[in-house]
Amino acid sequence: MMKSNRASTAALVATVFFASWSSGALAWKEEGHKLVAQLASELLTPAAKEQIKKLLNPDDAPNITVAEAMKTAATKPDELRKEKKYKETAKWHFVTIPLSSDGYDRDQHCPKSDCVVEKITYYQNILKDQTRSVGERKEALTYLIHFVGDIHQPLHNADNGDTGGNEVWVSVGDGQGEPINLHRFWDENSVKAIGNAFEDKAKVLRSKIQNEYQGLKNEPVNPGAWATESFKLAKNNAYTSEILEYWKENKQDIKWAHEFNKKINRVNENLKEKKKKIDELKRLRYSDSEIHKKEEEAREYYISQVKIINRQIIAVYNKTVKKKHNLAEYIELEDSVDSLKPL
Ligand SMILES: [Zn+2]
Repeated sequence: MMKSNRASTAALVATVFFASWSSGALAWKEEGHKLVAQLASELLTPAAKEQIKKLLNPDDAPNITVAEAMKTAATKPDELRKEKKYKETAKWHFVTIPLSSDGYDRDQHCPKSDCVVEKITYYQNILKDQTRSVGERKEALTYLIHFVGDIHQPLHNADNGDTGGNEVWVSVGDGQGEPINLHRFWDENSVKAIGNAFEDKAKVLRSKIQNEYQGLKNEPVNPGAWATESFKLAKNNAYTSEILEYWKENKQDIKWAHEFNKKINRVNENLKEKKKKIDELKRLRYSDSEIHKKEEEAREYYISQVKIINRQIIAVYNKTVKKKHNLAEYIELEDSVDSLKPL
């Protein structure tokens, strides 16, 4: 029953317009990370290039360009974090700096050194340590290429109690499009806005950093300063007064919507269990009437639960969103509950 999950997401939708957002801060996701890697590869010294080639080029494709190898590495950590084995790495991709702060402070924001800022330093040290194995240094370089991208995404460095903008919903442009959360807006839409094809985007970015590059190239690596810089961009450009107002007004409803989501998930889990038992009965060749009884029970359970949760979702939705064309979809869902056949 994915529809109900969607409905509770829609309950959070607000029509916050993004009339103006700074083009000074550019953000990531897959393409963003690849753009960072592409540009970085163009600025390497020949010696650094040689080293990277040794570390990153796979044995079965020794001749791919350094740029290609770096672009491939750039998106790897986001794939890994989805795997159970690498679950603990998920929090390394960002740092939670509350909007009320002035900037990054290690003791306050990353005391366990498990955030993007400290991980950059950590992996930098492994990368330059020649006594480490090739495997360790390759992993360090892969994380570095990725994390330097993440730390420059403003919303990976700022938080307003909304998991870095993940709980604030915005409509882009005329406000009629599919709503997206603020974090994703900076991950994806800001990258899309740079240009059309990858090479067009790279060209735009290249020209933007051209003048700064000479001054920047001898600056020390300072992830703390990068985090503060990104944090300030988030504070001044992403968290507009409209966004802050939205959060203040809807915070409670969003909390409720989270509760509804949990409930829906629980119902779905229970239903899965019931279905498993029915399959077992079928396998053991129980009588048709016995199986039918169990199916009816499961169906009644499902409908009664979904109906309650659905009403709650619609109540929140009515309160937070007034757009009729969206609302109709969920009223339809409510009406169709009676005809739902989960089995
Ligand atoms: Zn990441």
